[in-house]
Amino acid sequence: MTPFVQPAVDTKEHRAMSSPTTSGTPGRQSMIIIGGGLGGLSTGCYAQMNGYATRVFEMHEIPGGSCTAWERGDFTFDWCVSWLLGSGPGNEMYQIWMELGALQGKEMRQFDVFNIVRVRGGQPVYFYSDPDRLQAHLLEISPADARRIKNFCDGVRTFQKALAVYPFLKPVGLMGRWERWKMLASFLPYFNAIRKSITELMTDYAEKFQHPVLREAFNYVLYEKHADFPVLPFWFQLASHANGSAGVPEGGSLELARSVERRYTGLGGEITYNAKVEKILVEHDKAVGVRLTDGREFRADIVVSAADLHTTAMGMLGGRYLNDTWRKLLTETIDEVGTISPGYVSLFLGLRRPFPEGEPCTTYVLEDSMAAKLTGMRHPSMNVQFRSCHYPELSPRETTVIFATYFSEAEPWRALRDDVPEQAGRVRRGQVLHTLPVKHGKAYTQAKRQARITIENFLDERFPGLKDAVAVRDVSTPLTQVRYTGTYNGGFPGWQPFVDGGETVEVEINKNGPVLPGLSNFYLAGVWVTVGGLIRAVASGRQVTQVICRDDGREFTASVDESAPPPTQVSIAVGKQPGVPDLAAGFPAQTTGGDTAAHTDNTVTSSRSV
Ligand SMILES: Cc1cc2nc3c(=O)[nH]c(=O)nc-3n(C[C@H](O)[C@H](O)[C@H](O)COP(=O)(O)OP(=O)(O)OC[C@H]3O[C@@H](n4cnc5c(N)ncnc54)[C@H](O)[C@@H]3O)c2cc1C
Repeated sequence: MTPFVQPAVDTKEHRAMSSPTTSGTPGRQSMIIIGGGLGGLSTGCYAQMNGYATRVFEMHEIPGGSCTAWERGDFTFDWCVSWLLGSGPGNEMYQIWMELGALQGKEMRQFDVFNIVRVRGGQPVYFYSDPDRLQAHLLEISPADARRIKNFCDGVRTFQKALAVYPFLKPVGLMGRWERWKMLASFLPYFNAIRKSITELMTDYAEKFQHPVLREAFNYVLYEKHADFPVLPFWFQLASHANGSAGVPEGGSLELARSVERRYTGLGGEITYNAKVEKILVEHDKAVGVRLTDGREFRADIVVSAADLHTTAMGMLGGRYLNDTWRKLLTETIDEVGTISPGYVSLFLGLRRPFPEGEPCTTYVLEDSMAAKLTGMRHPSMNVQFRSCHYPELSPRETTVIFATYFSEAEPWRALRDDVPEQAGRVRRGQVLHTLPVKHGKAYTQAKRQARITIENFLDERFPGLKDAVAVRDVSTPLTQVRYTGTYNGGFPGWQPFVDGGETVEVEINKNGPVLPGLSNFYLAGVWVTVGGLIRAVASGRQVTQVICRDDGREFTASVDESAPPPTQVSIAVGKQPGVPDLAAGFPAQTTGGDTAAHTDNTVTSSRSV
């Protein structure tokens, strides 16, 4: 057995989030964190800032988890960040990224269009960042919808202001009465907009447009159709974009993860790769360490899991520490359709030449006949990004990277595969690696091939010559995500918000904290104890550390990383170029009223166009 720093010392039982302690357990010094995704790395950073000696165990060879990229030939395929909430100042999300050293010294890029939606046979709808411009564009498409369009754009404007007071820094459960009151008071001016936006589903809201194109397009603003989403996340997302705070970071997703990893090791944290945890060691209902798949054991005063929740609770802990709520969530609710996010099927293409007509981000609503060829597809739509617009530094000059994705369930892929483990450790270069490819069998491979050919043909119709320009390609499915990160069913950000599972988790965590009942010295972090994307994952690391500090009677502290200058903010104009045919539509060009004027606001230091 190899001990990791101090052996565990005695601690008190966890207290409910709603009853903060003052006594604490000052003896706890060392911490093991399972998972080196953004949630785990963030936990490590904040724990180091607060005097804990931490060590992250990550089963992959690199940091980042879902926030990743991989190489094919000369190309780097960036799999994750299309929007980074908090990429620009004026909100608490930005502060978290700055504390984690994630953005410093980088260019934050934001297109002036959040997404373009192309429904079958209709004109494209440009969801511009600027609500005034969006309103004018939508009015051109459908003057008859003037009232509804104004209502939507007003909602974005209201949320632009509300974002400044949206709480991310501190868990609500740790707020005192005065802090809660202050938070609620700051929301008062936006109360009506928030109330309305949370009580109406976007599918119902969109249905009220008279124009058929708008009726359909609004469902796809957030790339895919989210049938259970109310209007709130749409306003939140577009408002963040309008505020210049939902851009992409120079260097891409893996570099983002590496920046946080650097911050972590700079603070004295230690990370061990190719280290897969199979068991959380428990003595007298106290977590005391972990055992890896190679049999090594490590001990610490505190264990935090920022890995997949199902694996943690049911696998590493054998399902022993669950109350009725958690048991139901993890044994029943989790398997109900729509409870966790679907996974993605993604196709990357590295193309040998530029395609200047390519758009950074477009959702195509597809014909059912095409959707039928795409295994696992949840809705007949596909998001296509000319990813080299986001990250030109990740591919050679004068080339193009395309990233096409669709929401997919894992089960249809599982049904095609041979009966082999979905994850398997193998020795390579003298080391056991846990995330190497798995041979899923012939039917599975054929389905991947069919998806690839179908999407390539679709794109080639819109961008002639595309197929001939392919230098490298890569297809992944939800089972690829399972293999790389262990995520349950490859569902990309865990629980779906606004439905039973996600809501129940939120209530449970607000009430009892990020813990499992009856198990001391153990905490949860990462996207599974919250809902949402990267910002939620890193906020969970800050928040779990505050809970741990509270339990230990330590005053929580955090500081911005000042080792590099703040990021620069760049706005990139997209708009339809005058005189350029609308090739992406796949049918004759239509008048859209789009233009190419660069949008600027006061957070933008420069602008350019694609
Ligand atoms: C294709 C795609 C696009 C996305 N785009 C965006 C976007 O544009 N904006 C956004 O905000 N969010 C986006 N997300 C969501 C975002 O990536 C996730 O919400 C976030 O990365 C989750 O971080 P996490 O650390 O909680 O979990 P993960 O990233 O899943 O990290 C968990 C880590 O635990 C490790 N692990 C698991 N089991 C073990 C074990 N037994 N032992 C050791 N280690 C283990 C895994 O290898 C992994 O590194 C996207 C996700 C995907 C998949």
